[in-house]
Amino acid sequence: MNAPTSLPSRVRHLIVGAGFAGLGTAIKLDEAGESDFLVIEKGSDVGGTWRDNTYPGAACDVPSQLYSFSFAPNDWSRSFSPQPEIHAYLQRVARESGTLDRFVFGTLLEDAAWDETEQAWRVRTSRGEVLATNLITGSGGLSEPKLPEIDGIEDFTGELFHSARWNHDVDLTGKRVAVIGTGASAIQIVPEIAKVAGHLDVYQRTAPWVIPRHDRSYSRLERLALQHVPGLRKAYRTGIYWGRESYVPAFTRQPRLTAPAAKMGLANIRKGISDPALRERVTPNFQIGCKRILISNTWYPTLDADHVDLVTDRITKVAGNTIVTADGAEREVDVLIVATGFYTTDQPIGHHIRGRGGRTLADTWADAGMAAYKGTTIHGFPNLFQIVGPNTGLGHSSMVFIIESQIAYITDALRTQRINQYAAMEPKLTVQQEWNTDLQRRMERTVWSSGGCASWYLDDHGRNTTLWPRSTFTFRKLLSEFDVSSYDVEAPAAHREELSA
Ligand code: NAP
Repeated sequence: MNAPTSLPSRVRHLIVGAGFAGLGTAIKLDEAGESDFLVIEKGSDVGGTWRDNTYPGAACDVPSQLYSFSFAPNDWSRSFSPQPEIHAYLQRVARESGTLDRFVFGTLLEDAAWDETEQAWRVRTSRGEVLATNLITGSGGLSEPKLPEIDGIEDFTGELFHSARWNHDVDLTGKRVAVIGTGASAIQIVPEIAKVAGHLDVYQRTAPWVIPRHDRSYSRLERLALQHVPGLRKAYRTGIYWGRESYVPAFTRQPRLTAPAAKMGLANIRKGISDPALRERVTPNFQIGCKRILISNTWYPTLDADHVDLVTDRITKVAGNTIVTADGAEREVDVLIVATGFYTTDQPIGHHIRGRGGRTLADTWADAGMAAYKGTTIHGFPNLFQIVGPNTGLGHSSMVFIIESQIAYITDALRTQRINQYAAMEPKLTVQQEWNTDLQRRMERTVWSSGGCASWYLDDHGRNTTLWPRSTFTFRKLLSEFDVSSYDVEAPAAHREELSA
């Protein structure tokens, strides 16, 4: 691989990020003959979230047969693959794709501004400037760690790190460890570190719904069959897809259909915890599905262990190496792990992208929240394509399915752009508004709105600007073709001058 070390002055497509989204885009653009692209990646490797989240127990809670590219099958070792296996998969796919010669690692996007004269994105990176006709961001919806706002935490005198930035130099063996948070990351971390920690305090603000995890390794025979029996892997993947898709009505239209899942969650508590008082404290007080449903067989038994304490009193401050809670209790710890999630409704990249008139995405979205057309393009931001943009997230199935749908749409858009020699394309404002009015109307009926919880799905105005409120096959259908009639298009500036002369 001969990856460039400096940036060219001009490129047709600039892709930001080398996770599933950026890598998949590079592969599909190459296949479509759009080979004049560059991928900039702030890290030193491909993998995105699967490179960054190296915490103990990290694994995907969507079966790998579905949580993988449709065009790049893999010999998965088990149903829910651990992070190292997913990362290795992405590394292999990248290596074999023949596109790595256009990836520049260790390169941070600092600023991207739409240049009206050039009809291109003027992009400043930590490695220099580049002018790009199209800017495609695949920087991830869950990539920027969010630290909790707790008085005194910045002066904590022990070791402190976020779940997504695990400090592997810190040995937890025999230590007093505290974990703040009980989300998808924490429930994977806690059972693992409880095996070595001397004492573990788990700080819970909201009890999550946790149902059993049906994970198992594939037998040798199954793996051979999946690899060699024609059509079997595809049929298996399709089966998982439809199994997952059958949850959609419960989330989006009939929240009462979630009742069986709630029963499973309550049974999981009874099975895992013997103490009635502890059972009570871990029982959620909102409708299942309102927050992401978590899966674990080890979460409750770990909380029941003698050397693990669940703390449900609010943290009031951190003083030195002591965590103080509202009941006045003080607990000393050596290591504090914050598993407190990510910036989701205020995408950090939005502060670095400036569209027409120099307005940033963050400013554009400041009043009414994030909004795009088909989760991908944004009025006022010509030739910008966001993968995993507003309202593309899922609570039930594989984001790789969504990502591939968006990549197909973008590839078709770029083909349309080239054939018609459009210099700039952006969704019409009215079309974008109609799209979002419809989305928000649908959102009202979902469990995410009516389930009685606060979640990272909702922004400060209480609007759900992160999740897709319909079936994933509808998303795919709606993005199956680039609908140029929904867009304002511009001829190249030189051509415009000729026409007006
Ligand atoms: P999260 O779901 O946002 O959970 C953050 C946790 O921290 C919550 O329990 C939250 O409590 C708590 N918290 C936040 N600020 C706090 C504060 N100031 N004081 C006390 N507690 C505080 O974050 P995450 O667990 O990292 O997961 C984020 C998303 O990443 C998931 O929903 C999922 O989409 C994805 N993920 C997926 C997998 C997978 O297996 N595929 C694994 C990990 C993560 P509240 O509930 O009260 O807000």
